[in-house]
Amino acid sequence: MVSARAIALFVVAVSSFTFVAFFGRLPAFRNTPVGFLHRLIVIHIPSALRRLDARLTNGRITNGGSRLGHYLMYEKHPVVLIFFLGLVSASATLFVPAVWQYLPQRHKFLIPVLLPQPFIFTYLSARRNNKTYITQLNHAAHMRHYPYDRVLFYPGMMCGTCHMLKPPRSKHCSICKTCVSRMDHHCVWVNNCLGRGNYRWFLALLLSTTVLLAYGAYLAYTTLTPLTEAHYTKYKRWYRYEGEIDPTSWPSMFDVRLHYFLMYTSIYLEVGGLSASGVGLLALLTWPLPLGLLSYHVYLIWAGMTTNESAKWADWRDDMADGVVFLGDRREETMHSYRASQSPAPYSETSSTSGTPVMTPPETPPEEEEPRTTWPLESRHILIRTRDGKPPESLPPRINIVAKDDSFKRVWNLSEVENVYDLGFWDNLMEVLK
Ligand SMILES: [Zn+2]
Ligand SMILES: [Zn+2]
Repeated sequence: MVSARAIALFVVAVSSFTFVAFFGRLPAFRNTPVGFLHRLIVIHIPSALRRLDARLTNGRITNGGSRLGHYLMYEKHPVVLIFFLGLVSASATLFVPAVWQYLPQRHKFLIPVLLPQPFIFTYLSARRNNKTYITQLNHAAHMRHYPYDRVLFYPGMMCGTCHMLKPPRSKHCSICKTCVSRMDHHCVWVNNCLGRGNYRWFLALLLSTTVLLAYGAYLAYTTLTPLTEAHYTKYKRWYRYEGEIDPTSWPSMFDVRLHYFLMYTSIYLEVGGLSASGVGLLALLTWPLPLGLLSYHVYLIWAGMTTNESAKWADWRDDMADGVVFLGDRREETMHSYRASQSPAPYSETSSTSGTPVMTPPETPPEEEEPRTTWPLESRHILIRTRDGKPPESLPPRINIVAKDDSFKRVWNLSEVENVYDLGFWDNLMEVLK
């Protein structure tokens, strides 16, 4: 039983480490033990090792290592993508021929349908996409997709590298070296940024990988189970726990369950070998990873935000807890919807062809900085943080021109702030799948 415990601890440790490494950077885990462990793994332990190396070898090991680390972390490279597709290919090459003769006919049709999908969706996520990358040519169109919410995105901000106005919801990626439309995150698995044009392919990749792993584990289980009968006798000694256990004691039940899990794993490994059982077990153990990531992205779609925006919302939440955040009303005359409803408009915008000078109210941001969008909602509020936690007295000029005087109230909770990018789950889903 000692070895069973050791193996169980090892499996739990490896899965926890993978979970922390993959999900620890998510804003949802900030200020939690998961976030702490993630910082320990990616910041504190590497820097302690660097200090140790500096003392022992004058930094020779880390110099070579950090060049590699820098390349892996901050350069565009297909190492992880090749590893991922290589793992899927190798697993399929081991698994499919080993179980093929035991498969019912319908599975022989289903495998060629399911197996290529992760490859296709990785390709679609990884390739250069005009709807994702913002260039001089498509910049004007990207400016018209979403309004500035004046919470996470303000008009008039320039990208220092691309020398273009940042469209709402966009972010510059220093690895792809371009501004990305509705930036979600830079994904090393597909060696590309996920944005407006390819986010849906990334969701399809997560879904198809989740389905494929579950399907592989299922096939391994159903094809090998009939072959295992004869082997049970050899493992009779494993049954000695029956009758000895206290069914009310959770640790004791856990011990027994674990014991049986390891027993069956051994039997399956003996029957199907590494090629069928090993791959099936790998599929079973890694299956929660794409499933967890997919669930997180479904949550983001439900909440009407990207991974990038969820980090910004988390910053606001932390500042609100400190009591330094104020919500103000926007002046109606600076809003496109207000100006459209004042017909005939007091401020003409269609005079460029007629030659008469364009009249815009002084409070209104210029049309090229904040063009009219096709988005159904427009921001009615402005959110600002103050350094001293006192209500704002003099506002920065950019905020001053659109905020109603004396309308700022302290907010303590994110629920008091409207997210204009949230149209409800169904419409959000349609928006990301477009
Ligand atoms: Zn940029
Ligand atoms: Zn990128």
